[in-house]
Amino acid sequence: MFLVNMKKFKDSIYIQNTDLKDYCTFKIGGKAKHLFIVYSISSLLNVCSYCNTHNIKYKIIGQGSNLLFDDKGYNGAIIVNKSDKFIFRKSNLYVDSGVNINTIINASINKNLSGLECFAGIPSSVGGAVVNSLGAFNHQISDIVEYVICYQKNNLKKRIVLKKDKCNFGYRNSIFKNDNYIITRVKFTLNFDKKSSIIQRMKSSLNKKLISQPMSDYSAGSVFKRSTLIPAKIIDELGLKGKKIGDAEISTKHAGFIINTANAKSKDVLSLVDYINNLVYNEYKQKFDLEIEYVPY
Ligand SMILES: Cc1cc2nc3c(=O)[nH]c(=O)nc-3n(C[C@H](O)[C@H](O)[C@H](O)COP(=O)(O)OP(=O)(O)OC[C@H]3O[C@@H](n4cnc5c(N)ncnc54)[C@H](O)[C@@H]3O)c2cc1C
Repeated sequence: MFLVNMKKFKDSIYIQNTDLKDYCTFKIGGKAKHLFIVYSISSLLNVCSYCNTHNIKYKIIGQGSNLLFDDKGYNGAIIVNKSDKFIFRKSNLYVDSGVNINTIINASINKNLSGLECFAGIPSSVGGAVVNSLGAFNHQISDIVEYVICYQKNNLKKRIVLKKDKCNFGYRNSIFKNDNYIITRVKFTLNFDKKSSIIQRMKSSLNKKLISQPMSDYSAGSVFKRSTLIPAKIIDELGLKGKKIGDAEISTKHAGFIINTANAKSKDVLSLVDYINNLVYNEYKQKFDLEIEYVPY
C-alpha cells in the first residue's frame, strides 16, 4: 500500500481513495487514488515535487467547477489548491492561485478597486480562472492580469514569470491549458473607482447570472464553447431543455448547462453530450466543442 509521510507536507492534508464528487461542483466522479489538500504555495510545490519523485501523475484543481471526473475516479493524485494569501499594493493585487475569486471580489470592493466584480458568483479559484481564461459579460480575466507566476511540472526548480502577452489568452484558453504548468501566484492590476459603483456592477452581474443560469444546481457551467453557433440557443431550439439521460439533465433554466439532478454518472453526461452533438450535426453539419473538461481515469 502507498504510504505518505505526512510530516513532509506541512500545511496539507492527505486522503487515500476518496470520492472526487466531493471536490467538484458537478458532484460526479469515482475515487481518487490519492488526494492532497494544500493550504500554501510551498506545500503545493512540495506535493508536486513528491509526485514527480514517486512517478505519480497529478492534477491540480481549484474549485473543481469546470471538471467532469470519470466514474472510475483518478489513478493518481488530485491536488486541491487552497493556498489563500493575497495582498494589495496601491491598485495592484498579488494573489495565491488557490484563492476563491469571490474572496478577492469582496476584498477589492473594500479597497475601492474595480476589475473583478463582473465575475461575482462564479465558483472559481484564481488558478482555474487563469487556466480557463474566465469570462463573463464581455470581460475576461486576462483584462486585469499583469503576470502569472508558474512552474513547469517537469522543472520545479525554475520559477517562471509570464507576462500577460506570453500567456496566449484566448476564448476559454491559455498556454496553461495543456496541464504542463503549476500556477502559483498572479498579479492583477485593478482600477480605483467609487465603492457604490463597483457594488452596483457586482450586484448587476450576480443578478443576471442568478436569473438566467442554474447557479444552485450541480453543474460545471456551460458545457459547450460558443463558435459560429450559440449552443444554448440551438439546444433550446431543438427542444432539448429537460432531456435526461440517467440523472444528467439539460437544464430547463439554461439549455447550455447540464445538471446533475441526483446521482448522475460521467457516462450519463457524456451520453447526453453525444446525443446533443448528433442532433446538432444532423442539422448544422458541425459539432460543439466541450467547454467543460473531462478528466479521464
Ligand atoms: C454555476 C457555474 C457558473 C459558471 N460560470 C462561468 C462563467 O460565467 N464564465 C466562465 O468562464 N466559466 C464559468 N464557469 C466555469 C468555471 O467556474 C470556470 O472555468 C473556473 O474558472 C474554473 O475554476 P476552478 O478553480 O474551479 O478550476 P478547476 O475546475 O478546478 O480546474 C480547471 C482547470 O484548471 C487547472 N488548474 C486549476 N488550478 C490550477 C493551478 N493552480 N495550476 C495549474 N492548473 C490549474 C485544472 O487542472 C483544470 O485543468 C461556471 C461554472 C459553474 C459551475
